[in-house]
Amino acid sequence: MAADSVHSTYPPKLSPAQEQFLVSTIKDWTIEHGLTVRPPVTFVSQEAVSKGVLATNAPVTLFPSPFPKACFEEARAAQKVYNELYARITMDEKWLGEVIEELIDVDDFVAELWKVHLAVQKQGYVQDLSLGLFRSDYMPHTLSGSQTSSLKQVEFNTISSSFGGLSSRVAALHSELLTSPPGHSLSYPAHPLFDGRVPPENTAVETLSAGLAAAHQAYGPSKSTPPLPLCILFVVQEGERNIFDQLALSTRLSSFHKISVFRLITSEILDRTSIAENNPLRPLIYNPPHAENSPFEVTTVYLRSFYAPTDYKSDRDWSARLQLELSAAIKCPTVLNQLSGCKKIQQVLADPNRPDHLSRFVPTEETQEQLRRTFAPQYDLSSNSRGRELALNPERAALHVLKPQREGGGNNIYKDAIPAFLRSMPESDWKGWVLMELIQPPTEASNVVLRSDGEVVSGNVVGELGIFGTILWKSNGEILHNEEGGWLMRTKGKESNEGGVAAGFSSLDSVILY
Ligand code: ADP
Ligand code: MG
Ligand code: MG
Repeated sequence: MAADSVHSTYPPKLSPAQEQFLVSTIKDWTIEHGLTVRPPVTFVSQEAVSKGVLATNAPVTLFPSPFPKACFEEARAAQKVYNELYARITMDEKWLGEVIEELIDVDDFVAELWKVHLAVQKQGYVQDLSLGLFRSDYMPHTLSGSQTSSLKQVEFNTISSSFGGLSSRVAALHSELLTSPPGHSLSYPAHPLFDGRVPPENTAVETLSAGLAAAHQAYGPSKSTPPLPLCILFVVQEGERNIFDQLALSTRLSSFHKISVFRLITSEILDRTSIAENNPLRPLIYNPPHAENSPFEVTTVYLRSFYAPTDYKSDRDWSARLQLELSAAIKCPTVLNQLSGCKKIQQVLADPNRPDHLSRFVPTEETQEQLRRTFAPQYDLSSNSRGRELALNPERAALHVLKPQREGGGNNIYKDAIPAFLRSMPESDWKGWVLMELIQPPTEASNVVLRSDGEVVSGNVVGELGIFGTILWKSNGEILHNEEGGWLMRTKGKESNEGGVAAGFSSLDSVILY
């Protein structure tokens, strides 16, 4: 099916009564199935939030979004190759260090992370296993006048890759709406795209949990004397609104894999954990608050915090990160693996003049080409470079986005704001940023969004597909586990540049493949 004919009649029109009926059904479904977030403080009072008893629907689309099947399959097929690429970059401290070195003088956050690595290196790493729970994000790039789209990568995430939990629930919601008998409270009006179609299976929860479980198993027996029971530790932000997404993984780990899981906020790491004294193996000990005298040994630390500078409020938080990094627990991710996800690395890999970078890590020409096809043009801003020329020319800059070495959304500079932004900053700092050509997704797509505050908004939208993958490797190059599985569709208003759900720009969606 051609993109324009798909989007021109989609989604099916709803009368006001039908829309109200569908919205109220979806509101109830989200609470019934935990497709929820804690309410924003702008929506209910701080006092109500602090009681910890409230939840509201996650922002969701009323309809699944049409997505080109060939692009979806191409993204899935590339995931294990991408997993291995970022594992191999992480193993290559010399190559990674050379890229990171460039950023250290201009980016304090990157510099602090690198310092943690150096401090651990000084004492020696005691854990040679690393775990990655990754998400590779894409948009279909559709040239005007063309009927087909090519898949382009927006970015690759190596830390706190979120929404696996909630995303599978959106797929379940849309599937239920698509397969209910007509007139049932959960059903859509007819549309040709719906005939026999449901969103593809979404195994994000199973895949991500299996990655964590694989690390837990690979850790082996307790390194403490006497031996302690083992657990996985989720390190989380205080007041996390997206907690139900995380609970989907911890619940799966405890109920299916029979692994003890604890949640710990970053500010309590130094109070609740310690590295066993006089034990050269450096096991990480966790003392649960509800059972002070029954400590656990942490096999795997899963970070859903520590990805942004705001997660490090003081030196104490950097000491906490260092303590985790020094310990024998398997880190998801290590500091080095976190740094491998810098936007700068993605720009260097995509540099058409330096194919040697990609071929250093990806064995065959065929797999290199498989990844290269998904790269959008990216540039550094060095003097006399093409990147600098494009970024400073208002007409050319309008087709680009400028990115710093940050995660979590809300950090980029877009289009015509780029030249003035760069000029407001000393030229010596420009090397902390990369310029990327904007991917052009189909412009005529529409959907309707139910926001967390209950507002319903409809209009032109743009979708971003994420594919989840997990990989467990040894520093000697051995790969113990490499899996692809599960996906995330996020949809934002066409006028909005940014796409983060947690940052409030977009909503959770699923896909109907065409
Ligand atoms: P972050 O790590 O903060 O999520 P991203 O690189 O994903 O950074 O950028 C944030 C958002 O900006 C994306 O979700 C997407 O909506 C938009 N974006 C980033 N790069 C591009 C691009 N090359 N073309 C179009 N949109 C982009
Ligand atoms: Mg990111
Ligand atoms: Mg992103």
